[in-house]
Amino acid sequence: MSPITAFLTDSTLCIGCKACEVACKEWNGISADGLEFTGFSYDNTGAVGHSTWRHVKFVEQEPETGLGGNAPDFPAWGFSSDVCKHCERAGCLEACPTGAIVRTEFGGVFIQPDVCNGCAYCVVTCPFGVVEKNKSDGRAFKCTFCYDRQKVGLQPACATACPTESITFGDINELRRTAKERVQQLRERGMEDAGIYDPQHTSVEGTHSIFVMRGDPRSYNLPPDPETPGLYLSAGWRSAAIAAGAIFAGALLAFLGDGDR
Ligand code: SF4
Ligand code: SF4
Repeated sequence: MSPITAFLTDSTLCIGCKACEVACKEWNGISADGLEFTGFSYDNTGAVGHSTWRHVKFVEQEPETGLGGNAPDFPAWGFSSDVCKHCERAGCLEACPTGAIVRTEFGGVFIQPDVCNGCAYCVVTCPFGVVEKNKSDGRAFKCTFCYDRQKVGLQPACATACPTESITFGDINELRRTAKERVQQLRERGMEDAGIYDPQHTSVEGTHSIFVMRGDPRSYNLPPDPETPGLYLSAGWRSAAIAAGAIFAGALLAFLGDGDR
């Protein structure tokens, strides 16, 4: 197996049990978020954040045979377990001024808590809204890709706990092949809207969290065209250089003009 790893989250296999959320909290020693309903769905953890590194989204849908129930009178449910995408080109890593965010040997993006100064630049530069600052602690937190478990040859806690194999973990190239085969299989079974979410053709340049899902990825908080803010840096520097050159040329002309008098 190559050392470069990924998650494959197949939302068509997810039953919304939230075992992945709980396993993540248990392994990483993160406290519960409370049991209040958000008012948006039958979900009480809301979104990924500083204390929820895996979040299972519940999406209520029109009844459809084979998706979350077969009775035509009841809504169907789509479930998908969201997580940090461990972007190939990561906005959070590019923006961090202290070097707290690093790329690991497994390809994941890791925040070193002892180096983070809580400036929150990573919070605003993540195109997926994944990192959050813990206000009581002052530092930014997100999924670590279970770096400590990977270091000793174990897979991340969420993938270990998932009872339906909706979350699998392994060699990124193998998982990309598995995702393609799974989508082909789903389409052969009549699920024409099945697809892969792995934004390799955007400025994020692909992710280490690949998803198989049905329908529009936006239903699961996955933007179709995520942008890394650093994309605009080179254009910004170019404009600044042109402006500086114009000012210098103007000053030089004014100086030479003065000399002729
Ligand atoms: S999803 Fe956000 S937090 Fe995760 S690696 Fe990409 S930019 Fe960083
Ligand atoms: S553990 Fe697996 S089946 Fe359960 S909510 Fe998480 S991804 Fe879905």
